[in-house]
Amino acid sequence: MAVRADIVVIGAGIIGAACARELAGAECSVTVLDRAAAASATTAHGEGNILVSDKAPGPELDLARASVRLWPQAVAELGEELGPRLPDIEWDRKGGLVVATTAAGAAGLGAFAREQRQTGVDAQPVDLGDVPGLEPNLSRDITAAVRYPEDAQVQPVAAAEALLASARTRGARVRQATAVLGPIRDRSGALRGVHTTAGPWHTPVVLNAAGPWAGRVARLLGAPVPVRPRRGMVLVTARVPPWTVRHKVYDADYVATVADTGGESEETTASGALTSSVVESTAAGPLLVGSSRRHVGFDDRLRVDVLARIAAKAVRLFPGLADVPVIRAYGGFRPGVPDHLPIIGPDERVPGLWHATGHEGAGIGLSVATARLIRQMILEEPPVVDPRPFRPLRPGLAAATSTGAGDTDRPTSSSASP
Ligand SMILES: Cc1cc2nc3c(=O)[nH]c(=O)nc-3n(C[C@H](O)[C@H](O)[C@H](O)COP(=O)(O)OP(=O)(O)OC[C@H]3O[C@@H](n4cnc5c(N)ncnc54)[C@H](O)[C@@H]3O)c2cc1C
Repeated sequence: MAVRADIVVIGAGIIGAACARELAGAECSVTVLDRAAAASATTAHGEGNILVSDKAPGPELDLARASVRLWPQAVAELGEELGPRLPDIEWDRKGGLVVATTAAGAAGLGAFAREQRQTGVDAQPVDLGDVPGLEPNLSRDITAAVRYPEDAQVQPVAAAEALLASARTRGARVRQATAVLGPIRDRSGALRGVHTTAGPWHTPVVLNAAGPWAGRVARLLGAPVPVRPRRGMVLVTARVPPWTVRHKVYDADYVATVADTGGESEETTASGALTSSVVESTAAGPLLVGSSRRHVGFDDRLRVDVLARIAAKAVRLFPGLADVPVIRAYGGFRPGVPDHLPIIGPDERVPGLWHATGHEGAGIGLSVATARLIRQMILEEPPVVDPRPFRPLRPGLAAATSTGAGDTDRPTSSSASP
């Protein structure tokens, strides 16, 4: 049976969930379709950091700053809307502490923080003598530290589930185990719906929020975008006493690794992954220790050399971790884009098609501002940030979009085969 909606959102990860909530709140009739279970893909593999600290001045930082303003409001609204049904989303504005371990790293971190401060980010240089008071278990070998009080954290699956529950309360429908197979178009070529494994869905607006599969979905719908999976792995330790690690702590290398859009670096492991050290506590007690970055298509094998490098770097920051057992490791696929900016907005090639994807390692944090921007663009309201840098056909993506270079799930040629 054919079904109708004002807007069909493809993907029930945190981006689709946040967009569905915003649009349903504006009295649109919204249906979310996911081929699997809600919040079971990349969103289940994110660490849940909501960061301004790792972003250089520019459009992504603007979106991140909008998100850190919107998250507390969203958390309060979710509490009011869902009451006792609200899962504990572990919202914690714990703040970030970025540290350097070399003289060159200290200079780089200082310059980066200065640029951020000029745009209004609260980036506070910390006297080395004050660091033990902030993080008693941190190595004494660090050369610089900057504190970012705006950095926060949520539990990503719980947050996505809460956003979806709120979307349902506002009238959205969520249909799991329903894969989008292809477009329904009218004679002019405009999108009029999607064919799915559960039959046709008619709608004038289709929002592609399919995370690392957004490139595939866009291809299916006739307008390729260069979203590629970028593998990341994380170690989970046994529970540690509260306050063992107080902030989200990472080495300044992390910023370079995040921004690196796919090449090699001295920090690569034998299998070619970029690694950097990110250590954070969770409400349940285990520490999350990340992370790595590598284009290996959708190869989901865990690599021991990558995990060993991640562990070694974490122990360099927190020597006491050498005695803490690792209880598990996991990996996921970040939705990466060659110019490292998300793709948000209408697709001029196929009227009716919109994208909200390509958030790489920041989709949890950026979800609420992305959703606000999508709502504002669809309803032609003033936007929370300038949407132009995120448009699908921007010059920075022209080469990848026209050649299809970025539009592939395959590993890069330089990645080692296992
Ligand atoms: C190791 C790691 C650590 C991370 N840490 C952080 C962090 O600390 N902070 C942060 O902000 N971000 C982090 N991220 C990134 C973050 O997890 C992602 O940016 C975010 O989850 C992307 O959400 P999404 O909704 O776009 O994608 P997903 O959660 O992958 O959702 C996409 C959905 O689309 C569905 N789908 C795909 N194809 C179809 C189809 N044909 N039909 C129907 N449905 C379809 C999938 O089933 C899936 O449920 C991390 C990622 C990784 C891998």
